[in-house]
Amino acid sequence: MDLINTKILKIDNENPDKDKIKEAARILKSGGTVAFPTETVYGLGANALNEDSIDKIFNAKGRPQDNPLIVHIADIDQINKLVKNISKRAKTIMEKFWPGPLTVIFDKSDIVPYKVTGGLETIAIRMPNHKIALSLIKEANLPIAAPSANISGKPSPTESSHVIQDLSGKIDMVIDGGNTGVGLESTVLDLSGDIPTILRPGGITIEDLLTVFDKVDYDKALENNDENLKPKSPGQKYRHYSPNAKMTIIKGNENLVSKEINKLTKKYEDQGLKVGIMATEEMKDKYENGEILVVGSKQKTETIAKNLFDTLRKFDKLKVDIILAEAIDEKGIGKAIMNRMGKASQNIVKVE
Ligand code: AMP
Ligand code: MG
Repeated sequence: MDLINTKILKIDNENPDKDKIKEAARILKSGGTVAFPTETVYGLGANALNEDSIDKIFNAKGRPQDNPLIVHIADIDQINKLVKNISKRAKTIMEKFWPGPLTVIFDKSDIVPYKVTGGLETIAIRMPNHKIALSLIKEANLPIAAPSANISGKPSPTESSHVIQDLSGKIDMVIDGGNTGVGLESTVLDLSGDIPTILRPGGITIEDLLTVFDKVDYDKALENNDENLKPKSPGQKYRHYSPNAKMTIIKGNENLVSKEINKLTKKYEDQGLKVGIMATEEMKDKYENGEILVVGSKQKTETIAKNLFDTLRKFDKLKVDIILAEAIDEKGIGKAIMNRMGKASQNIVKVE
């Protein structure tokens, strides 16, 4: 792939400069690629209705062609052209959670290229809750396909430096709009069956959705490691979010977890390996050796969501061989945190 010149444009998130937004929108309108911040992670945007533009996204990321892209809109009217119909349940949920970290699956209309949907008859749509993202999409006046702006398989980007590290020379522009908010991707929700089903846990939790629906399920393939179960969200079948090091999650009673991590650290260090420990604020003082990075607080799991991907990238910079990570309680956003950690890791050790 020939390298292209990637322009970096700093935009104030609180008060996006109109001229700068116009400059970025011009790139999108002429078929180019722009990475921009959203409230979840940085997205790599391009015109969702233009096949050449979509190719640019897949090529820059090295993303498998069957992993569909989420289409981002800034105005509820944009959705009508993209979908066949909007159910009552979808309307309710859009009103309650948009703009926000919730992606909803619809039957796609004929104008949506199969390239965007990975060959599926359905399309995933969301409206991000971020001033830069919304003004950029409005100005471009297009539906914008935008997967996370990282090399496929690597941790998603939560600041512009992560995007630059992965995609510089491969995309037309990176908007530097500071850190993202949630730090994990959107929840993907399928409303086609009797029971609303979460295909990927994310920024909107099952507890949030249960304020609207009586019952919400997780896709069976998410709950199970059975290789024969096919995830309804194609992206879930891939290993993801992976640091260079081998990662092990340690789960169980707090005292046993710290003992096990100390024991494993010693074992690996004796073998001459460099060990990183992904610790919570509450547990960090219990570790005796290793490179300890605090990912956030157990009491405030949203801090862990915010820092997770950056912490994995920091371990790469430290060039550790092994990462030992404390498991997180799967309540609220903890479900999405453990989903991402599970995909980033090779195994989970349970100590009881
Ligand atoms: P990313 O854009 O990297 O955040 O990944 C998008 C996620 O949305 C992937 O897990 C996709 O599999 C999922 N997704 C996108 N479109 C669809 C669809 N039509 N049906 C089910 N899942 C989808
Ligand atoms: Mg991604």
